[in-house]
Amino acid sequence: MLLNMKDLLAVAHANYFAVPAFNISSNMLLRGAIEASEEKQSPVILAIHPDELSFVRPSFVAAAVAEANKASVPVCIHLDHGSSLGQIMEAIQCGFTSVMIDASLFPLEQNIEISKQIVALAHSVNVSVEGELGTIGTTGPEAEAGSDVIIYTDPDDVVTFVEATGVDTLAVAIGTSHGIYPKDRKPELKLDLLKEIASRVNIPLVLHGGSANPDDEIAAAVKLGINKINISSDIKDAFYQKCREVLADPHLREPNSIYPPCIEAMKKVCHHKIDLFNATGRLHFIKYGSVEARSRRARLLGTGFGNRTHMIMSSLYETVC
Ligand SMILES: [Zn+2]
Repeated sequence: MLLNMKDLLAVAHANYFAVPAFNISSNMLLRGAIEASEEKQSPVILAIHPDELSFVRPSFVAAAVAEANKASVPVCIHLDHGSSLGQIMEAIQCGFTSVMIDASLFPLEQNIEISKQIVALAHSVNVSVEGELGTIGTTGPEAEAGSDVIIYTDPDDVVTFVEATGVDTLAVAIGTSHGIYPKDRKPELKLDLLKEIASRVNIPLVLHGGSANPDDEIAAAVKLGINKINISSDIKDAFYQKCREVLADPHLREPNSIYPPCIEAMKKVCHHKIDLFNATGRLHFIKYGSVEARSRRARLLGTGFGNRTHMIMSSLYETVC
């Protein structure tokens, strides 16, 4: 069941849990994320960063859409850290149901202007938008980009930004960094700041750089209003650590021999995160209809994907737990 982020997170927002956004950049990671979510009966966000999209190529998104449509759990396909109109347009053409516009390195006024334009474009074709205020840190070259010094989100700016842009969700900087922290660096979330931000706006808040943070801080952040948490490094680390172990056998060469244990190792991490985010079993939803949108956005944008049918469920479920 493919949904946009606004519809997917409305339920999490109303029920105090967070949906994991797993970064996928291979078929193995796609499979692991969907299987783990189905096993835990949890909604899931499949996040793809523009660098990941360049690597897997747009045709990969068609596979993700097909998997999402047949999944037994709600799935959103989300562009992570889009930074230009071109990237956003490409994502919408490919079949993403949600995009992030990250103009957080610009001054507030410019961030508002850019984000507002993306919201107007994306909303016209039922694609939801995540914005970002403040800057998330980075832990090194293997992690996603970020600033050396974290600029914490200003709660006053949050109100201005959300009202002016109409974004559906907002990524906030409260102390996390992309990647896995070196031993000498301890992440510390400013939970008071999060509490303040959550009291000012009524939209789902997003935590980036959710890998390698202490579990108790993440659980507290979920209770305070975080409804989406990005996990990239933790699942990839588990997957490739297992790959290294498996490939110690020099005779192995078939992907279907090598990768299944690696997928299982990744899924263990997914299971743990889903439990931690309080998202396990959040599928007691009422499905009250479906809308088969025949590539409305594709036709509007003249992308040539007109024959493809997307199942877009708009506000079609709500939790009853
Ligand atoms: Zn991020």
